[in-house]
Amino acid sequence: MQSSDWNMFEREHIWHPYASMQNPSAVYPVKSASGVRLTFEDGREVIDGMASWWCAIHGYHVPELNAAVEAQLKDMAHVMFGGLTHQPAVELAQLLLSIVPNQMEKVFFADSGSVSVEVAMKMALQYWQAQGVSEKSKFLALKHAYHGDTFGAMSVCDPISGMHHVFADVLPKHHFADVNIEAFTAQIKEHHEELAAIIIEPIVQGAGGMRFYSSELLKEIRKLCDVYDVLLIVDEIATGFGRTGKLFACEHGDIQPDIMCVGKALTGGYMTLAATLCSNKVCNGIHADKHGVLMHGPTFMANPLACSVAIASIRLLLDSPWQQRVQAIEQQLLDGLEPCRNHQAVADVRVLGAIGVIEMKEPVDVQKVQSYLIEQGVWLRPFGKLLYTMPPFVMNRDDVSTLTSAMCGASRL
Ligand SMILES: *Cc1c(COP(=O)(O)O)cnc(C)c1O
Repeated sequence: MQSSDWNMFEREHIWHPYASMQNPSAVYPVKSASGVRLTFEDGREVIDGMASWWCAIHGYHVPELNAAVEAQLKDMAHVMFGGLTHQPAVELAQLLLSIVPNQMEKVFFADSGSVSVEVAMKMALQYWQAQGVSEKSKFLALKHAYHGDTFGAMSVCDPISGMHHVFADVLPKHHFADVNIEAFTAQIKEHHEELAAIIIEPIVQGAGGMRFYSSELLKEIRKLCDVYDVLLIVDEIATGFGRTGKLFACEHGDIQPDIMCVGKALTGGYMTLAATLCSNKVCNGIHADKHGVLMHGPTFMANPLACSVAIASIRLLLDSPWQQRVQAIEQQLLDGLEPCRNHQAVADVRVLGAIGVIEMKEPVDVQKVQSYLIEQGVWLRPFGKLLYTMPPFVMNRDDVSTLTSAMCGASRL
């Protein structure tokens, strides 16, 4: 097909994330990706400031990750995980358990972040059911939370400011607390008897508004969960694997979750894979009912290609000077974005680890801002009032400079 033909077909027939088919916004055809750059079909090159939605922490076309996929392909691309197992799954579980908070002992492989959240919620519900405490069937989440797009996950996303309010009437009703200690304490005090679990994104709330909160609040949430006998689910899908400057954001408050979700950067952006991890307490609790089995089992559970590339990605991360890289990016984002704060259209500038955010006072005109950014050689996908970046950790100083200058320019359009 000629590129003009397939562009036509694309616009007519293919849905994009959170998009209209009738009034489609521009989509840019990518031909290839290498290092931190995407190459468009028309030959233009852009620096990827999104790391493909937090995932591509090592950039693209990474020799070690390519080799892992190629090697695994020679053995098998996939086999079912019901009644079968394989070394990539076992090795990945071992590696994961060696780097997450040490009370995590059991691993469930899921096929996407949202599904890992569904599994985490099921674990919490089954835990209480097995003890005969079936009234503990609600969740408490934070305002501005985002935990995914499937129904269980949507029900713990912020019901008002979140992107799922069109489903509000059909979603189960859970509880939400303002993001501060007083409000959170009041909510858990009031509702603990019906709460199966608290679910939080630790330190960084991502798609619900790119907001940061303190490690004190994180610590306090853990304490209150213990006091009121409520499980704590920590959604590290966006924050995991170094993004906030710690390997996992839990470490900012030195807390132990009961259940933990990882995804996104797990495979370095190569394949879809996520995992739900839990403590022995949760696992044993689920099996307090002697016939208890965890009721989930995706078709592509523990896909060997995905597990192999995840192993390679984690090893590559751990063998790299990732802390120094993330710290250097953090400092450069601070230096580069801080000057935008003075502009009258800008409401706030915030940076944590390899995450840089300019919050505008008004919603961003995405089409206009994107086409400006592409002229500057930069790829970003703003949403709402937010112009933000979470670049691959391997981005060099010059490219980060180009990125922050383009963001400042965009904030002045
Ligand atoms: C992206 C994300 C999810 C959902 O992951 P998918 O792989 O898109 O289903 C869940 N929680 C958080 C915090 C996320 O950032």
